[in-house]
Amino acid sequence: MLEVENVSVGYGSIKALDGVNLEAHDGKFTVVLGANGAGKTTVVKALAGLVPLRQGSVRVDGQVMSMDVEMRPRLGIAIVPERRQLWQDMTVEEHLVLGAYRSYSGWEKFRKTVTKEVSPRIEEILKQFPALRSRFSQRAGTLSGGEQQMLALARAMSSGPKMIVLDEPTVGLSPLMVEGVFVNLQKWTSNGGAVLLVEQNAEAALQFADYGYVLQRGKIVAQGEGKKLREKGLLEEAYLGSGDL
Ligand code: ATP
Repeated sequence: MLEVENVSVGYGSIKALDGVNLEAHDGKFTVVLGANGAGKTTVVKALAGLVPLRQGSVRVDGQVMSMDVEMRPRLGIAIVPERRQLWQDMTVEEHLVLGAYRSYSGWEKFRKTVTKEVSPRIEEILKQFPALRSRFSQRAGTLSGGEQQMLALARAMSSGPKMIVLDEPTVGLSPLMVEGVFVNLQKWTSNGGAVLLVEQNAEAALQFADYGYVLQRGKIVAQGEGKKLREKGLLEEAYLGSGDL
């Protein structure tokens, strides 16, 4: 379980997050929604240890997360950053093997166990992403946008995490691909994993999310079960209130 308590983050004089409280539970799909500039990417950066907290704390299963980025894989957290950040010249297979490496505590140990332990894990992942199987030896830079997003997600899953944190994975994808990404995430949570997604596409995300938070100018202004949040009309208010749609 992830607990974000009273977290504030700033860039110089800009207050990007202001006393944010949120939780993400095992087996649940949690989404943080907001318009442009609401602070969504900053939430992910704070969880990734890429920006210092001015105030508050982040805990995973009760353990306080420090700025040490290596702590994330140790705690079972995989981050899928904005714009995927794939290695353009490396193949699908290399991404999945190296994704798995993050969950091992050293190259030697990884090298000895890679065939025995990692191959079955990759096989499981390919069952979930059949499109990647036929692209197994293809370089990431030559995949379509949707395939690249699937690969970013599959790479995160290959480290065997307990929680995946994603920054707007659906940007630039067709409605069908958007659904594909969310279906995969939902499937993953049904096996006990936790998902924390920051997303602008509220309409699509709330069809899949168990629980949602609405972020407006760095503050959580609404929260509730996915379906209820859709009905409340709070979203329109939050999005329009920020001046961007
Ligand atoms: P978008 O959906 O447009 O990506 P977002 O909700 O992810 O937006 P953030 O990127 O978290 O929003 O930005 C929150 C606020 O912090 C914005 O006002 C932004 O201009 C500001 N900000 C973000 N990064 C920096 C930075 N490196 N330096 C200064 N201000 C920043």
